[in-house]
Order: sequence, then structure tokens, then C-alpha cells
Amino acid sequence: MLQLNKFSLTQKDIENMFDGSWFTHAQIFDDVLLISNKSTNCIVLKTSEGLILMDAIFPKKEMFDAIVDAISDIGWNPKDIKKFIISHGHFDHTGCGKWIKKAFNPEIYMSEIDYHFWREKPFFPDKPETHADFEIHNFVGEGDEITLGDKTIKVFFTPGHTPGGLSFIFPVYDLGTKHVAAIWGGTNPPNNIKEVVVYFRSVDHFLKQTDKYNVDVALSTHQMLMENGLERMDVARKRFVHMPNPYVLCSNKGYREYAQLFRNMCYDRLETM
Ligand SMILES: [Zn+2]
Repeated sequence: MLQLNKFSLTQKDIENMFDGSWFTHAQIFDDVLLISNKSTNCIVLKTSEGLILMDAIFPKKEMFDAIVDAISDIGWNPKDIKKFIISHGHFDHTGCGKWIKKAFNPEIYMSEIDYHFWREKPFFPDKPETHADFEIHNFVGEGDEITLGDKTIKVFFTPGHTPGGLSFIFPVYDLGTKHVAAIWGGTNPPNNIKEVVVYFRSVDHFLKQTDKYNVDVALSTHQMLMENGLERMDVARKRFVHMPNPYVLCSNKGYREYAQLFRNMCYDRLETM
């Protein structure tokens, strides 16, 4: 029988979060750049008035340099970074925020709940690099919108992975054609039943929104870990002009099918409890 990869957070996956020795990047839409280490993504959205960063990998100077170099490599200007949005209060998403703040002074956004969670409950209390290391003054939540130039990011409250996680919906363009992208903010299912229920409810809530806004693009902050993201980036880089964009789903029903993987991860987790 066919043996498929199963999602699990192994010791190796945790080591990969800290690994600053390897990066890749790919421009996957006219206005979207992905930068990844072996674990997490930074997503850069280009607008008519500058760049929006969403999540920022792991707090390590090499990762900050990788983000800046990737933006320059595709001909965009890192000095145009105007906003930085954080999906949730884990160190592999708050990431290089302190260097981003120092270098470009963007407006920074996250949920107030996860801001406190990030400060009060470091992922690894014995590893200082996972502790909160910069301030945030723009708290956002369900129904808020973050606008820069011609782009507006819709914000949704999707707790479960963390108590105050956020997910996002926004327009992207492929060779001039408009699509609508979604980012599910928290990936790894929680380790107790009560929080898995919260996670499931958030998936249900977010899917109502992805239906409403006709989402047809699935982006992820942990594509390496659970959705063959490296391979998809490779396809995006080597894409022939006559080929479809590998990030565009077949229809707006496609995101519902894609999101089934979040449920499947929860079922696998529940079986281990
Ligand atoms: Zn997380």
C-alpha cells in the first residue's frame, strides 16, 4: 500500500525552526514573495504604497538577512517595508521582528491576546531567543482590516493553536489576474481536547469567510512542514508560461478541500491522546 507522509512535530522539525543555515525564496504571484527556512515562511505582499510582511521566520540575524536579500533579489526594495503582521505569538512567527523594526520601523500588528501569550509563555522558557523581544502597539482582531495602498488584508480571529491566533484573506494577482488568498495562522493542532475543539471551531469560522470572499489561493506559514511547500515553491520558480499557478486552487470550493488537512491533522493528534 502507498505510504504517505504523516504530520508530526518531531525533534528534527524543532531543530529546523532554529536552523539559520539554509533558506529559499520564490516569487509566487505578481505581488507575493515567499521566503522560507526549513520550517517557517515569511510572506511579503507588494502594494502600491510599499510592502507588507506577514510573519518573520525565526529570531536569528541570518534569517533577517535572508528576508532582506530575498526582497532585493527579486527587485523590490526592503526599505519599502511599511507593515509587519504577525499571525500568532510563537517565536517562529514573531521571528526577526526586532531587526525588522530597527531597520525599517514598520507598523506592527498582532492580536492583544497573543501579545500577552507571547510575553508570558515563551515557547521554550530555557531558550532566551524564543522570548518576546520587541513591542507591538497595533492590536487587531476579528473583522479588522489592514490597508496599505491598493491592498486590504481582512483579519479573522482563529484561536486553537494559540489563544489569540489570527488568519488572513487578501487579494493577489497572477499575471495580472486577480485571485483571493487565505492564510491559516496556526498550524500544529493543540495537545488537549478542549483546545482541539477551539481549533475545529476556528476552522469552521474561517471556512465561512473563505466561502464568502471566494478564496481560491491557499498560502501557509508552515508549508515545509505539512503541504509539500518546498516542492510547490520549486514548481513556481520553474513554471512555464503556459502552466497554471501551483498556488491557485481549482475553485473557491478548493479551499474547503485544502482545509481538510487541518482537520486531518487534528484527527491524527486526537488519536495520540
Ligand atoms: Zn505556532
